[in-house]
Amino acid sequence: MLSKLHHSSTCLRRALVRPLSTFSRQSQQASNNPLTQEQIFERERLYGAHNYHPLPVALTKGQGIFVWDVQGKKYFDFLSAYSSVNQGHCHPKLVRALQKQAERLTLTSRAFYNDVLGEYEEYITRLLGYDKVLPMNTGVEGGETACKLARKWAYKVKGIPKYKAKIIFAEGNFWGRTLSAISTSTDPSSYDGFGPFMPGFQLVPYNDIAALENAVSDPEVAAFMVEPIQGEAGIVVPKDGYLQAVRELCSRNNVLLIADEVQTGLCRTGRMLACDYEDVHPDILLLGKALSGGMYPVSAVLCNDSVMLTIQPGEHGSTYGGNPLACCIAIAALEVLVEEKLAENAERMGAIFREELAKVPSDLIVSVRGKGLMNAIVIQTTTDIDAWKVCLRLRDNGLLAKPTHGDIIRLAPPLTITKEHIYESVDIIRKTLLSL
Ligand code: PLP
Repeated sequence: MLSKLHHSSTCLRRALVRPLSTFSRQSQQASNNPLTQEQIFERERLYGAHNYHPLPVALTKGQGIFVWDVQGKKYFDFLSAYSSVNQGHCHPKLVRALQKQAERLTLTSRAFYNDVLGEYEEYITRLLGYDKVLPMNTGVEGGETACKLARKWAYKVKGIPKYKAKIIFAEGNFWGRTLSAISTSTDPSSYDGFGPFMPGFQLVPYNDIAALENAVSDPEVAAFMVEPIQGEAGIVVPKDGYLQAVRELCSRNNVLLIADEVQTGLCRTGRMLACDYEDVHPDILLLGKALSGGMYPVSAVLCNDSVMLTIQPGEHGSTYGGNPLACCIAIAALEVLVEEKLAENAERMGAIFREELAKVPSDLIVSVRGKGLMNAIVIQTTTDIDAWKVCLRLRDNGLLAKPTHGDIIRLAPPLTITKEHIYESVDIIRKTLLSL
């Protein structure tokens, strides 16, 4: 029975593959006959896991704030790979750093020293005001690392009885896809069907100081992990003073404040860190995404010695974390943010963007919200209009954005965008909404 099933699925695959044989890279190049977008969609559908639902557009090139599809059509990129490409696509300084280091030394593992890691560690810790950094690769690994640090600190420093430590999270949080991360999720599409879940995690409503006050008064609480603006939840901006009140509560109760700035950090909101708006210095800071400007997965966990040195050799690590290629790219990515004053530009361009969007006379816009260049419009959905449909129409008109939750469209271009391009992109959004 099994072999029969196997036989029939192999036949199906052969049947599908044969007419699509031009998919092979070799034959593509030999025939100089690139795939159509439909063929690209189909190949991914056939051979890749179905864990994403991409907007139907197949990209082949990026430069600055623009990307091009395989047919040569140019688009404003208003997703920036979920705020990874803050410096703009293929920034020349980053490309140079990547090429130069790739020719010299890319990976040693942490079994040996390399001559770039220390330079990067010194640069990033001085820039952001922490004693130490722990390098990882993806954002979610940064979150995992922060949780491990918080637990170690809880047992070694705070004196919480072993394996009783709790970490508090905010409802609506998103910090990735590992089992720990989804164990804190309030979004069924993230967690449903993946249990059992990680113990020792608790939730409080976001933007609710009274609830947090109640939670952190428990002496077994080690940390509170929070995004200064919730990105995946749909650009949820807390009320002014929230972060400062969180900081004060955590300090008063000897609870570590972990700021997840994987999406809000690195100039996206108009400051180097979103926490800077309220002069809040988190105990543990998470960075990722734009730390490599889109070149390579690079994440970082920053904190002071009292927390970082609770972890000893052999207790945490990653084969690729802190590799010379990643470190070299991260230094260049941070330098671009500083040299090109991208925080200032994000603040100014964001203000103009929201001001211009507010003038769009469309009943489809329920609200516009955000900070710097991390913005969203909430759409009035009807039986035949939702955020997905608006994004398809935006694509047709030359602007790429991705919906979250059916009625929210995140608008987050690279931070290098100019005023003229802000006006041009708002024109596209206006034209699109008025055409629906
Ligand atoms: N934290 C936040 C706030 C994020 O938005 C994300 C990803 O979107 C992550 C963590 C996870 O990052 P990664 O996808 O690199 O693991």
